[in-house]
Amino acid sequence: MKKNNKIYIIDVTNRDGVQTSRLGLAKLQKTMINIYLNKMGVYQSEMGFPTTHHETNYLNANVELSKRGVLKPIILSGWIRALASDVELATELTDIEHLNISISTSKQMIDGKFGGKKTKEDIIDMMIEALDLAKDKGIKTVGVNAEDSSRSDMDYLIKFAKAAREHGADRIRYCDTLGFDNPLSIYERISQLAKEVQLPVEIHCHNDLGMVVANSVIGAKAAIDNGVDAYINTTVNGLGERAGNADLVSVILALKYSRDLGRNYQLDERIKLSMAWRIAKYASYAFGVPIPINQPGVGSNAFAHESGIHADGALKDRRNYELYDFEELGRGEPEIIETGRKITAGEYSGIKGFRNVYEKLEIEFKDETEAREILELVRYANVHTQKPLTEDELRFIASYPEIAKKIFTMSP
Ligand SMILES: [Zn+2]
Repeated sequence: MKKNNKIYIIDVTNRDGVQTSRLGLAKLQKTMINIYLNKMGVYQSEMGFPTTHHETNYLNANVELSKRGVLKPIILSGWIRALASDVELATELTDIEHLNISISTSKQMIDGKFGGKKTKEDIIDMMIEALDLAKDKGIKTVGVNAEDSSRSDMDYLIKFAKAAREHGADRIRYCDTLGFDNPLSIYERISQLAKEVQLPVEIHCHNDLGMVVANSVIGAKAAIDNGVDAYINTTVNGLGERAGNADLVSVILALKYSRDLGRNYQLDERIKLSMAWRIAKYASYAFGVPIPINQPGVGSNAFAHESGIHADGALKDRRNYELYDFEELGRGEPEIIETGRKITAGEYSGIKGFRNVYEKLEIEFKDETEAREILELVRYANVHTQKPLTEDELRFIASYPEIAKKIFTMSP
């Protein structure tokens, strides 16, 4: 390793992923994503919107899981606008301890969103006011997001980031909100930002031009080359606004296996690629979006060979046609699919079928009362997810019934 700084992952599936048109997750599913991300060794989950009322119970329940050591060591954070009023509301409604505060920094967006009423200086003042208040309220880490960084004037972006640093920001998020950058431009821009501001950089990229993973890892390289830590924003299966965000698994694979990157740059060593298959399959099921067959690492064709030369070559020595092993991603175990009778648990389940489902998971209840309580929660869970609950979801509900109850509770 040439460099001392590290690359960390901040996954934003539960924020950018779910805010996307036609995509959404039930609060139980968001919780399961947090659990899988934690098992995968991901540094942080941007888990939702602390100013949105229907998120309140979910967010507080997940913070409670963190305090109990269930969601640990992952850091759970929320996303809000960089407005003092948002900080006020977020800290009033939730126990969230980490925040990212976001405001636009490009001329296009400052003029376009604020209707000519805000100057560039106003933007910096608003950010500072929100940041100061968040720190006053005891928020442990605050990332400052410069929305549309890639189309922002570089001198202004540096000025904005320096102001954030002076007021105690923990990171600056460089947002390629429209997927406008390419690996060469993002390397230049993040190098300059990191060098002049000396604040850890988050790299938040979108895939409108198909370069999202390349931009993310090269953006991280730029931060490290200039002496600061890098935090790449990812989503599971790359789902996110429009053409999506940087796919979590692809980013890890690129950092480990792309020429020279793995050798020279240290990825957070807690990352367990072996969780890749499980989290990708779960997210696909929960979102109801199939994994493309050519998806890196987890697509059904990622390790498939058919043509004579390729099949023969891969069978003789897997390194002939495979850069990394499927076992490393947690693949290779046969999946058992019930082809006969199957009892599932849902919103109208009765106690007999329900007990059969849990017996198969080898979970026992201490008495009839407990069984009925868990059944009631499972029914509610299914009202939210509207699809058969997975074994891990059923296990979660049985293990933390009072947390599950909180997650399912919503009162408009
Ligand atoms: Zn985004």
